[in-house]
Amino acid sequence: MGTIRTHVVVVGAGPAGLTLANLLRRNGINCILLEQESRAFIEQRPRAGFIEEWAVRALERNGLADRLLRSAQTQGSFEFRFDGARYEFEYAELTGNCHFVYPQQILVTDLVAAYTDSGGDARFEVSGVQLHNLDSSPTVTYDGQEIECDFVAGCDGARGVCQTYVEGERARHDYGIGWLALLAQAPPSAAGVIFGIHPDGFAAHMARTADVTRFYLQCKPDDTEDDWPDERVWTELHTRLTVPGGAITEGKLFEKRVLDMHNYVLERMSHGGLYLAGESAHLVAPIAAKGMNLAIHDALLLSEGISAHYAGDPGKLAGYSDACLARVWQYQEFSQWLSDIFHGSPDPFLNGLARARLRRLLGSRAAAEAFAEIYIGKRADF
Ligand SMILES: Cc1cc2nc3c(=O)[nH]c(=O)nc-3n(C[C@H](O)[C@H](O)[C@H](O)COP(=O)(O)OP(=O)(O)OC[C@H]3O[C@@H](n4cnc5c(N)ncnc54)[C@H](O)[C@@H]3O)c2cc1C
Repeated sequence: MGTIRTHVVVVGAGPAGLTLANLLRRNGINCILLEQESRAFIEQRPRAGFIEEWAVRALERNGLADRLLRSAQTQGSFEFRFDGARYEFEYAELTGNCHFVYPQQILVTDLVAAYTDSGGDARFEVSGVQLHNLDSSPTVTYDGQEIECDFVAGCDGARGVCQTYVEGERARHDYGIGWLALLAQAPPSAAGVIFGIHPDGFAAHMARTADVTRFYLQCKPDDTEDDWPDERVWTELHTRLTVPGGAITEGKLFEKRVLDMHNYVLERMSHGGLYLAGESAHLVAPIAAKGMNLAIHDALLLSEGISAHYAGDPGKLAGYSDACLARVWQYQEFSQWLSDIFHGSPDPFLNGLARARLRRLLGSRAAAEAFAEIYIGKRADF
């Protein structure tokens, strides 16, 4: 088995791992990035699309947002549609901040290029990653190779191996519903996001690019893609989202996937020399488009902590888990709150409460400001 040495091994090349690897390199800290998929695969894997402004500005400060700032559309409002009417919600006007619409696979492509073009060591299609000696001298093994390091950054997502090395409780919440996630080769039907609240179930529309639109349809948790032939998809999208003057444009569906709608949060995000970042430590269902933003937030804090460690200040790294989890729990709470409004309830009392919240949100500027602040993540570190 060949042995090499580096400062940090980063496992996983998603938004968390790639942001972290770039930031560490910029601070002169050596790292090796290990990814189980091919570079071509991760550069085409569609997932998120909405990045909050604070995250974009942080990437910009580190020279990682050039193409994003040149080409991403910004959005500062969305529409609720219910009872046949449309209600515009202008959150940029309330907060001064907006979302940048930038498909995750394009951000991943940019971050891989920034890292490898600057000489970063990225190894794709690795298998059998295992961690050892986390309490003393961490090592990572894979494919007959051994890497000795000071730290392991576990950025390998919700199905990765790194989280299995961290002890502690896992708080989990199931929504008891499914979401059918769809991508259509169709121009957006509206400038912004549409949240459709309907007795048949929730539906959403989100622009991705000039000719690609993401849609979501609430479905039964045990539904499969086969339960949703294209004709049924479009019938339900029209039923749940169309209002007078607001039609939905159809196109070829090229992604159709039932999401298991659940959240989890690990009690601790570290063990010895291992630090988790992103979905390896916490998952939030895509109700409020928060997951990628949290992954970037963790990466920012972890790079600060590791950089401070090498500068002789171990305190930041010691506080890493608590600092991340503060924002994680605010976003989890917000997603749950939004879920109650979106999905309603078969219980008429709970349904009445959800409608009361919606009317307050649309009728009170103070309620709208509080909502907008957390929706765009302007303040969430309580
Ligand atoms: C349909 C959908 C829509 C979404 N929309 C939004 C949105 O609009 N806004 C938003 O903020 N979030 C959204 N999200 C969530 C967002 O995509 C995730 O939160 C984000 O990908 C998490 O980043 P990550 O780096 O933590 O993990 P990942 O992106 O999952 O990256 C982990 C990486 O680790 C690799 N890996 C796994 N195991 C191993 C191993 N053993 N060894 C080596 N490598 C390994 C994986 O291949 C992967 O490349 C959405 C998610 C979905 C599914």
